Amino acid sequence: MGTYARQNLVFERGEGAWLITPSGDRYLDFASGIAVNVLGHAHPRLVAALTEQAGKLWHTSNLYRVEGQERLAERLVASTFADRVFFCNSGAEACEAAIKASRRYQFVSGKPERWRIITFTGAFHGRTLATIAAGGNAKYLEGFGPAVEGFDQVPFGDLEAVEQAIGPETAAIMIEPTQGEGGVNVASAEFLRALRALCDKHGLLLVFDEVQCGMGRAGTLFAYELAGITPDLMPIAKGLGGGFPLGALLATEEAAKALTPGTHGSTFGGNPLATAVGYAVLDAVLEPGFLEGVQQKALRLKQGLASIKDAHPDLVEEVRGQGLLAGIKVKVAPAEVVKAALGEKLLVAGASDNVVRLLPPLNIADEEIAEAMERLSRALGRVAAPAT
Ligand SMILES: *Cc1c(COP(=O)(O)O)cnc(C)c1O
Repeated sequence: MGTYARQNLVFERGEGAWLITPSGDRYLDFASGIAVNVLGHAHPRLVAALTEQAGKLWHTSNLYRVEGQERLAERLVASTFADRVFFCNSGAEACEAAIKASRRYQFVSGKPERWRIITFTGAFHGRTLATIAAGGNAKYLEGFGPAVEGFDQVPFGDLEAVEQAIGPETAAIMIEPTQGEGGVNVASAEFLRALRALCDKHGLLLVFDEVQCGMGRAGTLFAYELAGITPDLMPIAKGLGGGFPLGALLATEEAAKALTPGTHGSTFGGNPLATAVGYAVLDAVLEPGFLEGVQQKALRLKQGLASIKDAHPDLVEEVRGQGLLAGIKVKVAPAEVVKAALGEKLLVAGASDNVVRLLPPLNIADEEIAEAMERLSRALGRVAAPAT
């Protein structure tokens, strides 16, 4: 179907941070399939995990225990705030599960009148009916009938607006610690801590959507660690499977208490193939030194982008980001920069708010960051500055 405005470009193979076309052209991948390929392409450990599992067992459904799923869940629980994990196949499903868990938590807590969720401008939580309502982007809601009820949107970062939006029907607050699609907007640690305090005060659940900013991209395993607080619910996906479709909802014991047998489910969720790969990804990201490496590379990228801003002040307005989720706000349409970068065989991704996103694999080499900066600078050199 015509749902995507795709580049007329096809890749046959991948090697680390490089994507290779059938004719052998090599592109440096700073999009990572939208923050998905955290270990780059064709990582030997992921290839081994997938092929080994493929020879044993693919799918049994959740009618039975799934050993690989239990193993991955235990590792996620051991490495995060969470006590419980629900597996699904995508970010939208993980967010949908968080919305359902929030409402039903209040329901089983004797507060069925609490079903509304506070969300933020610029949010993106997926493309299902409930998650487009949660995201509140008019462009994504248009023509899809009455929006799912129960979302109250306030400006990103505006604590006073959050306080005013809390009412007797509020069940939860849902936020991306760093907005990806919305234009690489980083919530301050202070703001996230204030949301935690408000949730505690009013008996609300705090939901951190770490589908894009999680799985090491922030320089910590999850972005919430940087704020020094924990959420109650956390949908994750994208990087979790390193390219294999896998999503999950992480929860505290308390926040998970409403999801009893029969209340929610997924046929494919947490199947043996997906969870074998997910375990291998998590194992690599948790290796000693890996996240420190992400922090160092993030600093290098930030410095590189700052130099690019200095070199192209007529085009680059601002450098944004946290960890290896970086962006430059440009003074032209981001699509122009994405196209010019393609001309330099560099892959980057657009975002809202005139931002061009840079999302390299987390194991990107220093020389590849330097190479990307050269290519981006050359690309910007070919973009006409807006008339002043
Ligand atoms: C991509 C994204 C989603 C939706 O994930 P899909 O796998 O595309 O359904 C949800 N939340 C955030 C923060 C995302 O970046």
